[in-house]
Amino acid sequence: MLFSEVAEYYQKLEEVSSRLTMIDILSELFSKSSKDEIKQLIYLTQGVLSPPFEGKEIGMAEKLAISSIVLATGIPKENIQKLFNSKGDLGSAAEEAIKDTKLKKLHNKKFTVNELFSTLNKIADSSGSGSQDIKIKLLAGLISDSSPLESRYIIRFALGTLRLGLGDATILEALSKAKTGDRESKQALENAYNLCSDLGKVGFKLFDEGIDGINKMEVSLFNPIRPELAERAKSFEEIMERMNNICAVDGKYDGLRAQLHLDKKKKRVEIFSRNLEKMTHMFPDLVKAVFEEVDAETLILDGEAIAYDDITEEFRPFQETIQTKRKHDIQEKSSEMPLHLFVFDIMYLNGKSLMDKSYSERRETLEKVLNKRIFILPAIRIITKSKKELELFFNAQLTAGLEGIVAKDLSSTYVAGARKFSWIKMKRSYKSELSDTVDLVIIGYYLGKGSRTEFGLGGLLAAVYNDKKDLFESITKIGTGFTEQQMSYFKELLDKITLKKKPARVESEVEPDFWVEPKYVVEVRADEITRSPMHTCGKTSYQSEEIGYALRFPRIISDGIRDKKAEDSTTTAEIIEMFEKQKKKPLSDK
Ligand code: AMP
Repeated sequence: MLFSEVAEYYQKLEEVSSRLTMIDILSELFSKSSKDEIKQLIYLTQGVLSPPFEGKEIGMAEKLAISSIVLATGIPKENIQKLFNSKGDLGSAAEEAIKDTKLKKLHNKKFTVNELFSTLNKIADSSGSGSQDIKIKLLAGLISDSSPLESRYIIRFALGTLRLGLGDATILEALSKAKTGDRESKQALENAYNLCSDLGKVGFKLFDEGIDGINKMEVSLFNPIRPELAERAKSFEEIMERMNNICAVDGKYDGLRAQLHLDKKKKRVEIFSRNLEKMTHMFPDLVKAVFEEVDAETLILDGEAIAYDDITEEFRPFQETIQTKRKHDIQEKSSEMPLHLFVFDIMYLNGKSLMDKSYSERRETLEKVLNKRIFILPAIRIITKSKKELELFFNAQLTAGLEGIVAKDLSSTYVAGARKFSWIKMKRSYKSELSDTVDLVIIGYYLGKGSRTEFGLGGLLAAVYNDKKDLFESITKIGTGFTEQQMSYFKELLDKITLKKKPARVESEVEPDFWVEPKYVVEVRADEITRSPMHTCGKTSYQSEEIGYALRFPRIISDGIRDKKAEDSTTTAEIIEMFEKQKKKPLSDK
């Protein structure tokens, strides 16, 4: 498949503002692909060179990309820079520059998706002395073989700014439609994706073995599993009811979700964040400990990494865990305040998947595997049939410095990537406030007024995720809770992802000063959820008189952004459920 054809589809995708049209365009594109290029095509469409958890980026600096354009076209650097300044996007600047000159004749060699993919990989892989020159030349080579439109996207690949606004669910639906003619297989594809977090791999499997192959897909080492998520409950009674009067209850650790993969023979360990990013290098203590402390050749564990003081038996606050992680001198800081991994699940052991085993069986296995228990320990838990005991355990965990409990269905399999009632969380709550915080996606921002003018940011427009529709629905403007430092931080972060128009997967009747790609998630506390005509959250049809849901007195409480993908933010269904629960008396802070 020629990339020139792909570029035309990308242009169409950029122009549409409906998710369903996006799926149609994308599925037509995928259906033209062969088995041998679907993986590469999917990665390119995601704007990456490998599944995002590998963290492989081209990330060329703008300066270098400009040099490539100059080299390929002979247009003076100042002219390119001027175009860049006026367009705000180097891809469009390159397109315009080439269009405007007789240099469009340059476009003399067509290249395929796989050829482009391989050159982009070469650019990403060249390192060390002289690598800058190599990168510039390789990119220039691509540009001189490209049409103006192709150059637009090639420059964006090089800079890591493709941003077609496609979510994982959109890509999965398009794959389903491309191969089976309808969107029915989406669920099967999503299940497969939840096991490997790699859309390229899922696409290839589908093209290679069809839906049968997809249904047979298993977890594999070093492909992170999309983590299981917890539901909320309003009372201990509800937990017991939903669990059929018997369940396991773990302490809820306020640290960092960590999924650990180990292959002892190959001496390889990887630790993935909740957001499926590799963060292995941040945990040298845990990497060392896992070789010494687990009785297994290969395994996948799910747990929470948290700074814990062995002597005082104190858990350190979340902020401290993060700082331990962020420190440049990780080695030094980590021996001062070693992170411990409190493990609550095991999904794979010695070459076999445990995903379909019951939780009680998995936990039993876990107990056997963790036999040293110095830095890698099982999460504290009880099994109970009594509401009273559940409540006592909850209170004991708060006293011990944990943030609550997670109740678990003993008979449930590991539910990758989903929020089912097999895990139910209950956190400490605060009187007169919502009993839980919410995680919102930033979809736009407002310029600062008055004393905030100098920061260039006065507030955020935020949304929740409607997982049934795969859309982001606006729920609130946030104007308070920011420190000056945070305002500058957000401004810098968001300026890199501003968009000229409302993104296709955002539904909002409120207009911010600037739209941004729905990418960053922040933690927000509010006094209550109210009904409001202003916001689209919970509306069944948009642009209607219907009343949606909104937050009252929202304030940002996370320091920066959360380690979550936009699609992992609080969902519309959760907001509606919280709204219903808030009518009843909240838990008191005991
Ligand atoms: P929340 O982030 O408030 O939605 O709560 C769910 C998170 O609690 C999970 O993603 C884990 O990171 C964390 N967590 C802490 N302890 C446990 C536990 N024992 N079982 C499951 N999740 C836990």
